[in-house]
Amino acid sequence: MPQARLIDGKAIAAALRGEIATEVAGIRAASGKVPGLHVVLVGDDPASRVYVASKEKLAVEVGMNSVAHRLPAETTQAALLAKLAELNADDAVDGILVQLPLPKHLDTAAVIDAIDPAKDVDGLHPINAGRLAGGKIDPEQLLVPCTPLGSMLLLKSVLPALAGLEAVVIGRSELVGRPVAQLLLQADCTVTIAHSRTRDLAAVVRRADIVVAAVGRPGFVRGEWIKPGATVIDVGINRLPDGKLTGDVAFAEAAEIAGAITPVPGGVGPMTIACLLRNTLTAFKARRG
Ligand code: NAP
Repeated sequence: MPQARLIDGKAIAAALRGEIATEVAGIRAASGKVPGLHVVLVGDDPASRVYVASKEKLAVEVGMNSVAHRLPAETTQAALLAKLAELNADDAVDGILVQLPLPKHLDTAAVIDAIDPAKDVDGLHPINAGRLAGGKIDPEQLLVPCTPLGSMLLLKSVLPALAGLEAVVIGRSELVGRPVAQLLLQADCTVTIAHSRTRDLAAVVRRADIVVAAVGRPGFVRGEWIKPGATVIDVGINRLPDGKLTGDVAFAEAAEIAGAITPVPGGVGPMTIACLLRNTLTAFKARRG
């Protein structure tokens, strides 16, 4: 039987969306305006289509103006940049998200660079990444990548005091590992970032009061690596041959030892879109005072 407390990302995400809906309703009543989220999808990758449809649906549910721009797979770099310039210039657009991955002929870094940092609700623009790394601005005021932001909210739901805790982040991607590590550092944790060249990963993880796994390998983090009572945030989403989703942590093993753990699905996943909506509201408020 698992001893660990389950961190219910589905419920926490629903509560966050409820708070956002209340705030959006208040803004609408006071000003007649609502935040506008624009998602750009290039091509017809089935997984991306599903993600974009749920972003659209949940943005509407919280009362935002939600628009998806579906462009053909053969869209040129120039045409995509022109679309972004149009959205950057449109005052009714508060948040712009380009769904990744882009088709291979497009230059992803140049596309992200072309988004107005004030509307970059994915938090991936180098200016936003730099502001986060600088550590001088309260992350609440920043546009921070959504999955890392969601992971932190889940952590704080079980650990109100993070200062001084040992945190080990496994993975150093721009999308997850690095920004999660920055947020943990900002919360005064002692942070180690592990990756594919880390020696004796099991020993490194065993030191951790907080483990964040963002590797992309099913069941990679074993239960015996976990320090008793540690909090485990499993960011991984891996599809098994039978179609089921599973995380980067061997859940049944880890749940016997951890103090609290996120399930997959139903952990970090639902927080990502909720945090996208939160970033859209943050961008709206920052742009419009
Ligand atoms: P990524 O860009 O592929 O990065 C994976 C990281 O894991 C890399 O830094 C890599 O190290 C490290 N790694 C690979 N093998 C390792 C090993 N044997 N030991 C230690 N570290 C190892 O992936 P990502 O975009 O960060 O995503 C990670 C996972 O999170 C995936 O399962 C993805 O589907 C999931 N994800 C979930 C959400 C969500 O909404 N819940 C959002 C985004 C991503 P190197 O840098 O040395 O190669």
